[in-house]
Amino acid sequence: MNWIISLAREAVRNGRAYKAPTTPNLARLHANELPWPQDHDPAPGQLNFYPLLQPQALAEKMAAHYGVGPGEIAITRGSSEGIDCLYRAFCEANRDAVLFCPPSFEMYRWYGHVQGAKMIEVPLRADAGFALDAPALKAAWSGNVKLLALCSPNNPTGNLMDPDDLLDLVEFARGRSLVVLDAAYAEFAGQNPGADWIADHPHVVVLRTASKALGLAAARCGAVIARAEIIELIRRVQSPYSFSPVCEHAVLQALKPESLRKTEKRIAIIVRERERLGPLFAELPPVQAVHPSQANFLLLKTADADGFTAAAREGGYLLRRIPDEPGLESCVRVTLGTPEQNDGLLAALRATA
Ligand SMILES: *Cc1c(COP(=O)(O)O)cnc(C)c1O
Repeated sequence: MNWIISLAREAVRNGRAYKAPTTPNLARLHANELPWPQDHDPAPGQLNFYPLLQPQALAEKMAAHYGVGPGEIAITRGSSEGIDCLYRAFCEANRDAVLFCPPSFEMYRWYGHVQGAKMIEVPLRADAGFALDAPALKAAWSGNVKLLALCSPNNPTGNLMDPDDLLDLVEFARGRSLVVLDAAYAEFAGQNPGADWIADHPHVVVLRTASKALGLAAARCGAVIARAEIIELIRRVQSPYSFSPVCEHAVLQALKPESLRKTEKRIAIIVRERERLGPLFAELPPVQAVHPSQANFLLLKTADADGFTAAAREGGYLLRRIPDEPGLESCVRVTLGTPEQNDGLLAALRATA
């Protein structure tokens, strides 16, 4: 057994992916469905029938979009489900651990709690622009660590991780644990990670999502990109029939060339707004720092996060406080909206500043 498979939980190593009977092009009298299509079916003729176990057409299109083979991708209900599947495939409750670097995406902790995984925290270096603390991560590693979860650009801090640090940690993890690279915001940093990582590093798993740059948060579509042997382990824990054809239809539309051109333009607007707004936020009296961001949001350090968010709310804008992350108690995360929304927010903040 190779070392990557030996990391998986025993039940998963001994399990198998659910197999459905093949459904050739015959009248479906085998699955207890109703035979009539629905009148308001957004994916015509599909809603009354069970979908395929995996959304096959979408998996192929997403694989091509990210530049990997169809066996190197699992479509999940958001990349959050990808995190859940990885924990369930690799972490035995009350025994195995996940190493991660707060402040980061809250779902790492949340799914860890559900699975009973031990969550080992190695904080980002707040004094160094929230860079990874590679020596501390190496020191914290133990034989029970199955996954090292890294996020770049990181949520909620917005910074890209240093590529040398990432490479150093990925090499350290070889023979020890998987490395999960969460690249939910990669498009806003002009990056397309996936194929490059898994070509050279069989233990790297890259998470991508349709929720952010593709503008489909409600479609709940994520992609786990990894070597085929890891994808096969994920299939053993993923719920069969869970991806709706309505969502598949929506994401397929968004992957058409004309839609992708529109998406490119929208990403360019967000990047422009990020550069334009940083200095304008920095001029507001309560703002003490605007953290450099490569994502579609800005993290602001303020003198009074409650007062700041209250002023925004007064003007009709909802911002995000991060009260539970040590060191970020006075920070506010602002998602970049349309230029009009961003100007409106600034006006509301200036009015009370
Ligand atoms: C938003 C976000 C995701 C995406 O989650 P989905 O379940 O795909 O909507 C993943 N990782 C990070 C760090 C995020 O901020």
